[in-house]
Amino acid sequence: MSAEEIDVRSELMRRGALLEGHFRLSSGRHSDRFVQKFRILEDPAILEPVARAIAQHFRPQRPTIVVSAAVGGILLGYEVARHLGVKAVFVEKEDGEPVLRRGFSLSPSDRALVVEDVVTTGLSVGEVVDLVRRHGANVAGIGAIVTRGSSFDTAQDDKAIPFHALLELPLQSYEKSECPLCRAGEPISDPGSRRA
Ligand SMILES: [Zn+2]
Repeated sequence: MSAEEIDVRSELMRRGALLEGHFRLSSGRHSDRFVQKFRILEDPAILEPVARAIAQHFRPQRPTIVVSAAVGGILLGYEVARHLGVKAVFVEKEDGEPVLRRGFSLSPSDRALVVEDVVTTGLSVGEVVDLVRRHGANVAGIGAIVTRGSSFDTAQDDKAIPFHALLELPLQSYEKSECPLCRAGEPISDPGSRRA
């Protein structure tokens, strides 16, 4: 499968990654849909062309390093970095704060490509961007497999950062107090990894 031919939506459907039900998203909002990104991240046969497509898109920006957020981002970041021929580092939480551990470093000469598997609110990717800048490095772009829609655009304060997702999958989500599924008494599941 070449990177140009990859149909992310079909692959997600075929792999049972598009779940329907009542879900608490990592942002805390509720939704009737959820993307189980590990149906892609677990299989090199699909992760490889997905990562290649992201790498190809950002190659003109000449990233010097790939930065992602643990846990899912580690797999995607590594594979994108492999295609670009650069290192991959990842951000972890320490006392709730995003940090670089394990001796990972960024320098002011770095142009970091930030990658994220599924961008929903943009909160997680925003934390990685902030961390890159705190280390004095530049952000070459933000690459994602899936974006869940318009909320990210408003969350992204700096329009100067090129953003590219392979698939746009607009998401309906609700505050808990306004969730029609809660009102209907539907049991909720918590498939996200952010607070794990
Ligand atoms: Zn609900």
